[in-house]
Formats: sequence, C-alpha cells, structure tokens
Amino acid sequence: MHCSTRIERIEDLAVGAGLPVRHGPASARAQIMGPALPDGYLKRLQKFRYGPAVFKLDWALDGPIPWTDPRCLEASTVHIGGTLEEIAASESAVWNGDHADRPYLILCQQSQFDSNARPCRQTDRLRLLPRPLRFDRRSDRCAIEQQVERFAPGFRDCILARHKMGPAELEQYNPNFAGGVITGGAADAAQLFTRPVARLNPYTTPNPRVFICSASTPPGGGVHGMCGYHAARAALKKIEKFSPEPIRAR
Ligand SMILES: Cc1cc2nc3c(=O)[nH]c(=O)nc-3n(C[C@H](O)[C@H](O)[C@H](O)COP(=O)(O)OP(=O)(O)OC[C@H]3O[C@@H](n4cnc5c(N)ncnc54)[C@H](O)[C@@H]3O)c2cc1C
Repeated sequence: MHCSTRIERIEDLAVGAGLPVRHGPASARAQIMGPALPDGYLKRLQKFRYGPAVFKLDWALDGPIPWTDPRCLEASTVHIGGTLEEIAASESAVWNGDHADRPYLILCQQSQFDSNARPCRQTDRLRLLPRPLRFDRRSDRCAIEQQVERFAPGFRDCILARHKMGPAELEQYNPNFAGGVITGGAADAAQLFTRPVARLNPYTTPNPRVFICSASTPPGGGVHGMCGYHAARAALKKIEKFSPEPIRAR
C-alpha cells in the first residue's frame, strides 16, 4: 500500500500483490490508467457526467449559530432549504445552468462536536454551482450568508473571518473533486448504478488486475465507505480464485 504519495502513472501502483485498487474520479482514472485499459473502456469513462460543482465558504464565528430553532445546534450537518418548493426551485435552477436566489445549502458545524475546533468556532457551507461554471465570490458569499441569516437572525454579526473555495481550489486541495464536484459525479437515474460505466461488476475493469473505487462507483457520494468496501470485496474474490487458501474480509 502507498500512503501520502500522489499517483501519477499506473506504474506507481505496481505493488507486491499486483492488484491495484484505484481511487479517484473517472477522468483521472482514464489519465492514470490509460496504458492498462482498452480504448473502448477509456472512451466510456470520458462520457461520465459530473453534474454541479460547489462553492465552499468557511467561517470563524464568535459563538454558536443563533438558529431560530435551537434543535439545529444538535446536528453536525444542517441542510438549509426552506420549503420543499424552494429546495426544488434551487435544485432545478442549478441543473438548468442558473443560480438560485435562495440556494439550497449544506452547513457543517464542526465546533459543536469537535473540541479542537472550539477556541475559534468553525463552520462551513456548500452551495451548488451550475455548469458551465459561473460564480462570483462576492455574490455567492452574500447569497449564502443571506440564506443562513433567514434561519438564524444575527448570524452575520457572529462572523470573525471567512475563507472561500471555488471549484478549482477544491480540485487542487483534493484531485478527487474533479472540477469542484464533491460527490464523484452526477447520481441521477442514468448513472446511479452504472457508474462510472455500465458493467455487471462496476468495481472491476477489463483489466483483471485493476479495480476501482471512490464515489464515482456505486452507491456514489454520501454513502461513505461502501464504494471502497465493495471494490475490496471484488478484489478479494479475484485473489481467492487464484489462492489455495480462502481470504476473508474482516
Ligand atoms: C466540505 C464537504 C462537505 C461534504 N458534506 C457532505 C455531507 O454532508 N453529506 C454527504 O453525503 N457528503 C458530503 N460530502 C461529500 C463526500 O465527502 C464525498 O462524496 C466523499 O468523501 C467521496 O468519497 P471518496 O471516497 O470518493 O473520495 P475522498 O473522500 O475525496 O477521498 C479521495 C482520496 O484520494 C486521494 N487522491 C485523489 N487522487 C489521488 C492521486 N492521484 N494520488 C494519490 N491520492 C489521491 C485524495 O487526496 C483523498 O484523500 C462533502 C464533501 C465536502 C468537500
């Protein structure tokens, strides 16, 4: 296993067991795994659809968020959308290449649960961005903060400092966030179970020595760990086939 090492080429993964399990978005895989995979499979990888990117805003606050409903402080992640109609309008605006006036947000309030984050209260917020990418740091920041203020009056007065991350910065921080997409690609009906390509076992590739995981495989982003779990099982099954002793996943 290689830790803390950036993988640039398939050769970097040539480990003793000879069974590389590759993590990363479909496009990066196509680039890195190119020499090990047939053209037909690579072409299908290139057709993978990523969907909306995100704009991320972090704050240092001088106290807990003054939610109108104090129960919100009990959640590590708060989804801010207002009514069902507002959430639907925000989602469809983004998918139609537009910005929503009242964006649907994911807000994490780490300092409620992580004592290391408490000296200066931290929280972060994600907003979906339409494609082709259009965002403006100032107006996105204002739309996000206005939306929180609706449900936590006085919130803006608690802000000590801000940090903004657009799609390019997110990808630089983690190459897995290709184009600022944090969920491994669009998880719509056409791609939920056929990610990154339609295949009986999506964790395998045409190369019997190469397996793939990450949120670009089923069940996608938001079901943490399951993609890797299934990929590992697929690899173990393959090893078992050639090993005299059965190998059990713990
Ligand atoms: C701020 C934020 C908040 C989120 N909130 C939620 C939420 O509330 N609910 C939810 O369901 N999802 C949320 N997500 C999305 C969720 O985190 C992702 O869907 C999930 O982590 C993706 O898992 P993954 O295993 O595909 O990749 P990751 O967890 O991104 O892991 C990929 C790893 O591979 C490494 N890597 C990539 N390329 C290479 C390379 N070439 N060489 C070596 N290493 C490489 C990266 O450094 C990284 O460590 C959030 C994401 C972010 C950024």
